[in-house]
Amino acid sequence: MKGNLYIIAGCSGVGKGTLLKLFLEKNPEIKLSVSATTRAPREGEKDGINYFFVSRDDFKKSVDNNEFLEWAEFSGNLYGTKKSFVEKTLNKGIDLILEIEVQGAKQVKTAMPEAISIFIMPPSIEELEARLRGRHTESEEAIQKRLHEVNREIEEGKNFDYRIINDKLENALLNLQNIFNSKRKENADG
Ligand code: 5GP
Repeated sequence: MKGNLYIIAGCSGVGKGTLLKLFLEKNPEIKLSVSATTRAPREGEKDGINYFFVSRDDFKKSVDNNEFLEWAEFSGNLYGTKKSFVEKTLNKGIDLILEIEVQGAKQVKTAMPEAISIFIMPPSIEELEARLRGRHTESEEAIQKRLHEVNREIEEGKNFDYRIINDKLENALLNLQNIFNSKRKENADG
């Protein structure tokens, strides 16, 4: 049986990364897709682990060769998911998570309507801004750009199959686990 495809999106700084890290530690059989990006690596990020860091030219070539299941420009950088990686993983019966932004999520849902989409919501815009600043990884300009996206993203979040508010990490984690458990039960029940 093929694996399930999950799309997880949410506003930047919403704590998606931490949530997913904990979730994957508890569910090591589930795989997280590694995207290609033209963004420069942040401190500690490794090529092939966090992302495949590629040039804009190489990224464009992959677009022209129709290699991406989805791709999008976000905050001035290109991000994309390779079709071959998704197909191979699902065909092995492995459940796969795409941690992507909302434009890409829409493209995946159109191409693969069976994908399960989950949107992670911030408790409030103020909280989100504080988290972005607390990260100390982006310039003021980058933070402003990202906050600009937030309202549009929340609007898009309404089209997702599930929404989780990341107010308390352990609650969000439990909600996420429940979605996966109910999907597994559905599969088992046939
Ligand atoms: P960051 O630069 O903070 O790692 O990611 C910025 C945004 O790009 C996040 O919302 C992240 O989910 C999204 N992203 C990462 N990989 C992909 C991808 O392959 N496709 C799309 N559409 N978005 C991605």
